[in-house]
Amino acid sequence: MKKLNQIGEFGFIAEIEKIFNRICHKKNVIHGIGDDAAVIRHSKKEYLLYTTDMLIEGVHFLRTQDPEAIGHKALACSISDIAAMGGEPDFALVSLAFPKNLNYRFANKLCQGLGKTAKKYKISIIGGDTNSFDKIIICVFLRGMVNKKKLVLRSKAKKNDLIFVTGDLGASCRGRHLKFTPRLKESQFLVNNFKINAMIDISDGLIADLNHILKASKAGAVLKEASIPLSYLADSREDAFYTGEDFELLFTLPKKYAGKLLSSWPFKNKVKLSCIGEITAQSQGLKLKTKNNRLKKIKLGGYRHF
Ligand code: ADP
Ligand code: MG
Repeated sequence: MKKLNQIGEFGFIAEIEKIFNRICHKKNVIHGIGDDAAVIRHSKKEYLLYTTDMLIEGVHFLRTQDPEAIGHKALACSISDIAAMGGEPDFALVSLAFPKNLNYRFANKLCQGLGKTAKKYKISIIGGDTNSFDKIIICVFLRGMVNKKKLVLRSKAKKNDLIFVTGDLGASCRGRHLKFTPRLKESQFLVNNFKINAMIDISDGLIADLNHILKASKAGAVLKEASIPLSYLADSREDAFYTGEDFELLFTLPKKYAGKLLSSWPFKNKVKLSCIGEITAQSQGLKLKTKNNRLKKIKLGGYRHF
């Protein structure tokens, strides 16, 4: 009998996609499974966005960590997905499972963390569900809205686009995975001022998430080793490439707009922006231009649940 880890998380999602797409009423679904959020027809000018994330004790956080930060993370990773589509979040549902003997103060603080982040990003939490289980589980469903012209998918990267990333990478394993800032302001700046071809938020790792863009867009890429913005907290380039949960934005833009983007960015954004490479033909695969100008194939990899 085949086990799930022989199929892998992404292989399994591809299977799910086949099962669920068969019963999907396609009429109002612009994009279902396969992007950071689902896109649903709404009004003349706007689409609705839907995303959900589940956080599990021992996988995404520990009970010894700050409960407010855990609550923040539970909502912030969904905000990051809405930002990656070019949209803005509005309503959330929050489902919680708590062990029966969990400290009341811990549960209360966790919810306060959720509430504070919701307030900060103008999100209304309008419902959810509560259960008991021997581990803490937090499941957030988040809705958002995007102007049709500003929607950004993973699948529209074009050959010769330049590849950009916000912030710096590789610090999530040093604690930043709980206290990150979802790049909503930055995403709004991008979609309000530029035609972004493809975008994703980095949750599985730079290489795995760039590969999601490349697969969806049927493209290849060259990354410039010298331009990868490595966090001072990261041990090595491997942390930036393969550890997930940086929650930075990774996007591609036609080369002709790159100058305007790089010159206008610092006036409106505090977080840094790096141009880390270029989209190529699919047949080129994913390569690294090393500091001494050699082209090397990049090994795929990143966070997978199984
Ligand atoms: P992200 O890291 O951006 O949250 P995921 O890697 O979790 O995205 O998911 C990739 C895509 O697969 C998304 O479009 C998501 O909605 C879909 N997906 C993941 N798990 C399931 C599932 N159990 N049922 C249906 N769709 C799923
Ligand atoms: Mg995502």
